[in-house]
Amino acid sequence: AAWEKQVRHSATPRRPSGFSVLVTGAAGFVGTHCSLALKKRGDGVLGLDNFNSYYDTSLKRSRQELLQKHQILVVEADINDAELLSKLFDIVPFSHILHLAAQAGVRYAMENPQSYVNSNIAGFVNLLEVAKAADPQPAIVWASSSSVYGLNTDNPFSEYHRTDQPASLYAATKKAGEEMAHTYNHIYGLSITGLRFFTVYGPWGRPDMAYFFFTKDILQGKTIHIYETHDGRAVARDFTYIDDIVKGCVGALDTAEKSTGSGGKKRAPAQLRIYNLGNTSPVSVGKLVAILESLLGIKAKKHVIKMPRNGDVPFTHANVSLAYKDFGYKPTTDLATGLRKFVKWYVGYYGIDSRVKKEIDNLANNHHPV
Ligand code: NAD
Repeated sequence: AAWEKQVRHSATPRRPSGFSVLVTGAAGFVGTHCSLALKKRGDGVLGLDNFNSYYDTSLKRSRQELLQKHQILVVEADINDAELLSKLFDIVPFSHILHLAAQAGVRYAMENPQSYVNSNIAGFVNLLEVAKAADPQPAIVWASSSSVYGLNTDNPFSEYHRTDQPASLYAATKKAGEEMAHTYNHIYGLSITGLRFFTVYGPWGRPDMAYFFFTKDILQGKTIHIYETHDGRAVARDFTYIDDIVKGCVGALDTAEKSTGSGGKKRAPAQLRIYNLGNTSPVSVGKLVAILESLLGIKAKKHVIKMPRNGDVPFTHANVSLAYKDFGYKPTTDLATGLRKFVKWYVGYYGIDSRVKKEIDNLANNHHPV
C-alpha cells in the first residue's frame, strides 16, 4: 500500500490537464533527461528500468538518485513483466508512455543477440499488449533509431527513405519495432509515435558511445582508435545534443492524438507517426576528437584504422522538416557547445587526477576557439 502511494504520488501531474507519463528506461541517458523535463513542467512521471549491466550500473543508480531528488520514482522491473505493468496501470491511468527502454549499441549485438530480441522485440510487444488492454489506452511515444536507414547512402535521410537494409541486429530490431507499432496502430487504434534519434550525446551520457570513451581515454593518456571507410573516407555522425532530443520527445508527446480504442469506432484511428530527431549537421569522428582535444587541452594519441567497424554505417544526416512542421522541432546546440557541457559534467562527475586537473583548470582561460 505504501508502494502504491509512492507510485501514485510520482505519477500524478501538478499542473491542470498535465500528463501522467510512464517512462521506461528512465534510469538510462535519454530517460533521465526526459523524466526531469516532464516533471519540471508539472507532468506526473513514473520511471521503470531493469538496471541491466550493459554498462556501469552505478551511473544508472546515480541518475536514479537525481530523479529521486525530483520526486520521480523509478520502479525496478523489466518491460517483459506483464503482471507488474498491468498492476501499474491499475494504480495509475497513464495518459502516455514514453518508451525508451531498449538494448542499445550496435556492436554488443554480435556478443549478445538475444538481449536485443528480448528487450526491443519481446519487451516492446509486451508493452504494446499492456497499453492495448489499458482503459483508457495511453498514447505511446517511443525511441526508434537513425540506424534503420542502414546501408542507405541517400543523405540527408527523410522518413520515407528506404529502411530495408539494416547494418546491425540492433537496427533490425528497431526496424521491427516500427512495423510492430504499425500493426498495433492499425488494428487496435493505439496512438503511437516513433522517433528516430540520431547519435545523442551530453551530460549523463552512455559510456559505450565514442564521445564518452574518447574523453575517458584521452584523459588517461590511452590511444584512441578512429575507424574510417575502406577507401579512407571519414565516418561522420549527425551528433544531436540531449536537450534538443528532449524537446523533440516532449513535442511528440504534446502532439500525440488520443488512442481510439479497438476498432476506432468513435473517431478515425490515430495514424502511426515516425519522425527523425537529429541535428542536421554531420561531423566527422576526426573533428569530434579535435574538439575534445581542444576542450581537454590534451593531444590525443590516435590510431587510425582504414576499415569500418562491423555494424557501423559511414554517414548519418537527418532531415528534420517533418518534426519541425508537426511540433516545431529545431535543434539549437552545435557539437562544440554540447561537448563543452558534456566535458564539464564528466570532469565533475568522475573527478580527475591532479595532472589532468591542471589542464582542465586552464579550460576557463582556454584560448583555442572551438
Ligand atoms: P540507455 O541504455 O542509457 O537507456 C536505456 C535504459 O533502458 C537503460 O537504463 C536500461 O537499463 C533500460 N532497459 C533496457 N532493457 C530493459 C528492459 N528489458 N526492461 C526495463 N528496462 C530496460 O540508452 P539511451 O541512450 O538512453 O537510449 C534510449 C532509447 O533511445 C533506446 O531505445 C535507444 O535504442 C534509443 N536510441 C538512442 C540513441 C543514442 O544515441 N543514445 C540513438 C538512437 C536511438
